[in-house]
Amino acid sequence: METKFSEVKNYVNGSFTANGQDKMDVLSPLTGEVISTMPLSTEKDLDDAVKAAEAAYPAWSGMPIKERVQVFFKYKTLLEENIEELATLIHEENGKTIGEAKAEVEKSIELTEFACSMPQLIGGEVMEVSKGVECRIEHKPLGVVASIAPFNFPNMVPHWTLPNALVLGNTMVLKPSEQVPISANRIAELLKEAGLPDGVFNIVNGDKAIVEAICKNPGIKAVSFVGSTKVAQIVYKAATGTLKRCVALGGAKNHLLVLPDAHLDMTASNVVASMSGCAGQRCMAAAQMIGIGPVDHIVEKMCEEARKIIPGENLGSVISKQAKERIERYITDAENAGAKVLVDGRGCTVEGKEGGFYVGPTIIDHVTPDMAISKEEVFGPVVSIIRTKDLDEAIDLENSSPYGNAAAVFTQSGGLARQVMDRASAGMIGVNIGVPVPREPFSFGGWNDSKFGVCDITGKSSIEFWTQLKKTTTKWNPDAKTNWMS
Ligand code: NAD
Repeated sequence: METKFSEVKNYVNGSFTANGQDKMDVLSPLTGEVISTMPLSTEKDLDDAVKAAEAAYPAWSGMPIKERVQVFFKYKTLLEENIEELATLIHEENGKTIGEAKAEVEKSIELTEFACSMPQLIGGEVMEVSKGVECRIEHKPLGVVASIAPFNFPNMVPHWTLPNALVLGNTMVLKPSEQVPISANRIAELLKEAGLPDGVFNIVNGDKAIVEAICKNPGIKAVSFVGSTKVAQIVYKAATGTLKRCVALGGAKNHLLVLPDAHLDMTASNVVASMSGCAGQRCMAAAQMIGIGPVDHIVEKMCEEARKIIPGENLGSVISKQAKERIERYITDAENAGAKVLVDGRGCTVEGKEGGFYVGPTIIDHVTPDMAISKEEVFGPVVSIIRTKDLDEAIDLENSSPYGNAAAVFTQSGGLARQVMDRASAGMIGVNIGVPVPREPFSFGGWNDSKFGVCDITGKSSIEFWTQLKKTTTKWNPDAKTNWMS
């Protein structure tokens, strides 16, 4: 069958590999049509990729970091030159709008730019620790590492890991989401064009079977994972069970605490943009607003803002038919349990794209903490509103969530904002900002069930994850006094 995009392939040792194995269809969520096919790789395919990465490792890790980084200077320029095409691929396979897709690539560019500054950040340390004796500390790479990605950012999430891990001297196997595998093939082409040696970056496509194989492959030294909490736990246990280093980012249920003194326009537009951007399929999206005291004026303005959002124009699709059904089920269950649907995105279709998986913006008021919609991750353009009488009750509610990716507060009071900054149980806090994603060089990572493992996945924190410390003690002067410390 002729498809819009050519067949997705694995990428091993600098070449796209012929696919003899089983295939899976890749659907466009914009139309529901098959736009490509993707290989369901086998353990043997993974072994081949790991062997290629192992073979490339000595030369790549042996190169001075100032030379490795040159590839990424060129690569950053290539991302900039190809931004339109890369954004189109994201739009087609993920369903987000072209504007959102471009913003995603811009973030990949920023992540690459950060990796280019790595030589300035990991200078190492040296000190004369006793007469004639010097200690030196250096960050050394780990070897072959793996990166496992989710569907919601086909271009950006791979860039959370690949530029930093590679600049620091590791070689990598990437496992893209089987729902959005197209972007990664283009990333591989651009890395090659930038001069990345063959074998340093490899792609193995597939589903959970490949993830399981990655976790137990003895050649892989570290695994980074981004996806749902359920799978993050499985991966963290499996990877550390075979004594690998692992950081596994999970799902989220982000709470936005809104006080009555919050700036009306800024708050309403921020909360609505946060819940509806990328059709709510962001781990940093506003999922639950906690309205503290009299906030009807803000809720009213939010509804006005939400009605300006038109599916197919400034709102993309969700990823699949199953996702659409799941999101609509949460809304209906909440309504049946007594919540009030103020703006209803159910049953939405887009003219000319009737097969697409669209859900309109949805605002549900008077949700209670016992409802599934207030506890579980919905991952759609939906915000539920819980009302509380005071800030303490709101913070208790936020703290009771098992997740802990982000939390935000909207107020004009510095003192109240400070209380939320101190007491919210989340890794990333926003003050009058609905999507508090730290930009480089600040690192990204949640708390609680939103992240398993020690380091954050980006920024300076990731240096500790992708490297190990080598400590060398040196003595050149035979006249220096010898004692047990020298
Ligand atoms: P997912 O967990 O279903 O899939 C993620 C990856 O795991 C995919 O590559 C998939 O092939 C693989 N996988 C799926 N089931 C598996 C299993 N049983 N065993 C082993 N591997 C398996 O996640 P998704 O639906 O692709 O992405 C959405 C989720 O990712 C949401 O929960 C979202 O909050 C989360 N997410 C979190 C962050 C963060 O920074 N915390 C960022 C982006 C997305």
